[in-house]
Amino acid sequence: MITLPKLPYEMNALEPHISAKTVEFHYTKHHQGYVNKLNSLTEGTPFAGKSLEDIVKNSEGAMFNNAAQVWNHTFYWEGFSANPQEHPLEELAEMINEKWGSFDKFKEEFTNAAIGLFGSGWLWLVIDKNKELKITGTSNAATPLTTGEKPLLTCDVWEHAYYLDYQNLRTNYLNHFWEIVDWKKIEGRL
Ligand code: MN
Repeated sequence: MITLPKLPYEMNALEPHISAKTVEFHYTKHHQGYVNKLNSLTEGTPFAGKSLEDIVKNSEGAMFNNAAQVWNHTFYWEGFSANPQEHPLEELAEMINEKWGSFDKFKEEFTNAAIGLFGSGWLWLVIDKNKELKITGTSNAATPLTTGEKPLLTCDVWEHAYYLDYQNLRTNYLNHFWEIVDWKKIEGRL
């Protein structure tokens, strides 16, 4: 049985950037829904009792979609804080400067990629196989967990992540997203 991890903060902790109502629906309906569906799909199969990462890496179809969505959402929630460290300070700061020239330029490129990602998916900052930082988008449930890249940061760009707060305006959601990313947590993933 896979269980829904506890949110690392109260549901209203991300306001005014992400409302309590959005967190409530996103966490207790969508995220929980993927957990429930996954458990119903693994029941009675060799995947029952396996770790979430094992299921993500070794399943396909509906089981993969639900498992990856459980993993991606947990990773998303854990990247935020009500009192975030506003930018990276150590090794990751240097790596970002080396790659993009400045933190602002990195944020601009990530934001543009998120706005440009067609349909439902996720935007990621990863360390790729050449040990370099990379901004990459994935469609639907797809996750860097299966590509050998190491994810550091993600933004959920499915409409359910922002529609209640910003309707169709993904750009507004992205602008607010940066206000709650906790770079202390992101750096800890290096
Ligand atoms: Mn979502």
